Amino acid sequence: MPLHLDTRLAHCGRPALNAASGPVNTPVVRTSTVRFQSIAAMQAQVGKRASGQPVSTYGRHGMDTQRALEQALCELEGGTRAWLTPSGLAAISLSLLALTAPGDHVLVTDSVYQPVRKLDAGHLARMGVQVGYFDPSTQPIEDCLQPHTRVVYVETPGSLLFEMIDLAPIVAICNARGISVVADNTWASGYWFNPLALGADISLLAGTKYIGGHSDLMQGVIVTQGAAHAAQLTKTYDALGLAVSPDEAYLALRGLRTLAVRMQQHQHNALAVAQWLAAHPKVERVYCPALATDPGNALWRRDFRGANGLLSVQFRDCSEARLFAIADALALFDIGASWGGYESLVLPATCEKLSAHRSWHGAAGVLRLHVGLENCADLIADLEQAIAGVLGP
Ligand SMILES: *Cc1c(COP(=O)(O)O)cnc(C)c1O
Repeated sequence: MPLHLDTRLAHCGRPALNAASGPVNTPVVRTSTVRFQSIAAMQAQVGKRASGQPVSTYGRHGMDTQRALEQALCELEGGTRAWLTPSGLAAISLSLLALTAPGDHVLVTDSVYQPVRKLDAGHLARMGVQVGYFDPSTQPIEDCLQPHTRVVYVETPGSLLFEMIDLAPIVAICNARGISVVADNTWASGYWFNPLALGADISLLAGTKYIGGHSDLMQGVIVTQGAAHAAQLTKTYDALGLAVSPDEAYLALRGLRTLAVRMQQHQHNALAVAQWLAAHPKVERVYCPALATDPGNALWRRDFRGANGLLSVQFRDCSEARLFAIADALALFDIGASWGGYESLVLPATCEKLSAHRSWHGAAGVLRLHVGLENCADLIADLEQAIAGVLGP
């Protein structure tokens, strides 16, 4: 019987016990120069890298620590090859820069992580790569694909409102037309969902979030299965001069060891908070696919193994100023971007940002909460006092 993912996460990417004794964890191996025994050995390694294989000929490519993390992330995502990047956004940029050329069209789900649009407006447009956005729940993908569409880029669930996307039919249509599918899997962080298993070409995620898990690390990763895109990804990676330090790879590996227990607890706490908010008289709607009342719940139950600590809440008759006041009144939820650490966070998402989502119809916006590992009764009490203080009893 194959070992459970939790067991594999505890053991993967650890150093082989070659001698009589050894450390538990792969050490931090720092180097700029990679030394070779002979010119022939160097040439063989250079050739392997040029063909897309995960070998190092220079410090930028990393050594033992980064290789161990790549192996562990392949285990997590069910892939065969991983590329570490300095941030999640860099993983997104690497995937789109590697897979597109001037004249190509990229189709993107409209609930994606906002900075994807900056990459589009700032760079892809200038390179002659066209990007279109669509809402797969209301616009059939066939109507949005163009003859020159090379990549379909999805994020499920979406950022801010967590719209669920049915990936399987998108993959089927794209496969039939030779279009690559790239999926941002940060929400599930590989633990609750695996786009590669549904046939996506690339699964990428921000290790900054749940992999690191302690809000002290910036990192991204691209994972693929098979050789299809390996040479092109390596070529673009090398051309951009991307590199991840062994110290950061070490932190990510360390985070991975407790991913299973953290994800379970984030799910438990977030669901308790979501259910309490959904029953609150001042609440218009809670956005969280794990809630039975969420329109994405059936899809989430079918495709995902669990949920993370994220949810968004929309209040009744609530102006933007009051939304900000509730965020300010919270004591246990820090105000700040990002998520996936052990701590609770709150961030307002105003209509200005949400207007990019075709599914959004509200007035003032939402508060996005990241529910951390604190005791959830304390978190609920904090929300109760902040909501009552601003919106009344
Ligand atoms: C945070 C995030 C990213 C970007 O990750 P960084 O490491 O912050 O650059 C990408 N996609 C999603 C869905 C995210 O939430």
